[in-house]
Amino acid sequence: MNPQALAHEAIARCQQLARYSEEAGRLTRTFLSPPMRAVHEALTGWMLELGMSVRTDALGNLIGHYPGPHPEAPLFLMGSHVDTVRDAGPYDGPLGVVLGLALLKGLEGRRLPFAVEVLAFSEEEGVRYGVPFLGSKAVAGLLEPELLSLRDAGGRTVEEAIRAFGLEPAQIPQAAYARNRVKGYLEFHIEQGPVLEALGYPLGIVEAIAGQSRLEVAFRGQAGHAGTTPMHLRRDALAGAAEWMTLVEREAREEPGLVATVGLISALPGAANVIPGEVQMSLDVRHQYDEVRSLAVANLITRAQQVAQRRGLELAYQTRYEQPAVPCHPGLCDLLAQSVEAQGYRVHRLVSGAGHDAMIMASLCPSSMLFLRSPKGLSHHPDESVWPEDVEAAVRVGLGFLEKLAESS
Ligand SMILES: [Zn+2]
Repeated sequence: MNPQALAHEAIARCQQLARYSEEAGRLTRTFLSPPMRAVHEALTGWMLELGMSVRTDALGNLIGHYPGPHPEAPLFLMGSHVDTVRDAGPYDGPLGVVLGLALLKGLEGRRLPFAVEVLAFSEEEGVRYGVPFLGSKAVAGLLEPELLSLRDAGGRTVEEAIRAFGLEPAQIPQAAYARNRVKGYLEFHIEQGPVLEALGYPLGIVEAIAGQSRLEVAFRGQAGHAGTTPMHLRRDALAGAAEWMTLVEREAREEPGLVATVGLISALPGAANVIPGEVQMSLDVRHQYDEVRSLAVANLITRAQQVAQRRGLELAYQTRYEQPAVPCHPGLCDLLAQSVEAQGYRVHRLVSGAGHDAMIMASLCPSSMLFLRSPKGLSHHPDESVWPEDVEAAVRVGLGFLEKLAESS
C-alpha cells in the first residue's frame, strides 16, 4: 500500500471508531465505557492482520506487539488515546493509534532491528474521573494507587470499573514497562490549535509540552446600592477585576510564547442594582520554560496587588495546580526534522500548549510528538477534521523516521 492509500485507510478507520459511542448521535467514549470494547475489537483485528500479538493491560490499554529480530529486542512505542471528550471529533487520539498501525503496514512485513508496540491508551481526557492520563500513567509506572478509589458520576470507583471491564486491578503494576527495554515513544496527534494552518504547514515537530499554572484569584471590595453610592466612594471588585484582566492580556502578549487566560469569573452578589463586592476568577498561565512561567505568574500577581491597592480592594489568590513543562527528546526531534525535510516538507518546531500522553511517556523513555495541522484549529468538537494530504505527509515522515531509527540502531 502506498502512503496515500495508507492515509485514506487511517482516516476511514478513525471515522469507523467514531461510531462507537456512549451517546446516540454524537461521539462520547469515556474510560472503560461499553463502546471501548468495540474499539478494542476493531483495533485487535487490524493488529492481527499485521502479524502483531495483542494484549490488554490491567488499566484497559490495548497494546499490539510487532516483533523485532529476537524476543529481547528493544521496544519502540507509538500510540495515543482512544477515549474522547463529550461530543468529540473522530481524530483527537485515535489518529495516533491508526497511524502507528499504518506505518507498520507500510513496512510490508519487513522487520526492524527493534520490536514496535502500538498502544491505544484507555484514558487521557479525564472525563469520567476528572483526572487525565490514567492509561499512560499505568504504562509509565506512575499511576498513584489512591486514584483507584476515585468515583465517577454514577458512584463507581476506578477499581470497580476495571473489574467490570473484566480486568484485574492487582495487575496494574505489571502494566508498567521496564525502563531499560524502551527505546522511545512517538505520538501523532492533531495540533488542536491554529498555528500550523496559519503558517500553511502540514506538520509540526513538538519540542516541548508547555508547563501550566492554574490559580484562583479574588478581589474583595464593598457591595453597595448601585443607585445611592457615589462613584468616588465605591470599592467595586468587578471594575478592579476588569482592569487586571486587560493587564493579564497585555503582559502575556509581551512575552514570546506565553499564554495567560482568565476563563472563569463570578461577581457577587451578582445583581443588576448592586455594586459587586467580590469577584472570583481563574488564571491559567502556560509556557515552554518553567522559569518564564513562574516569573509571569509572580508578575501578574504583583499587578493584581497594585490594582487592589489603588482601588482599596483586598486581593486573595491560591495556586490550584502546577504542571512543569516537559521537553521532548532532542535526538528524536532531530530524527523527525530530518525525515520531514527528506520528504520535502518545511520543518517547523512548536510547543504544545495542551497536555498529551507523550508528556507522561517522557518520564519512561525518550518521547516525541508530531502534530498534524488542524483545519480551523478545531478540536474537542464534532467538526474536528484533518486534510488527507497532511495524513499522507505524516505517513511518509513516519516511515522515514522508522527507517532512520533503524539505521541508527
Ligand atoms: Zn488528544
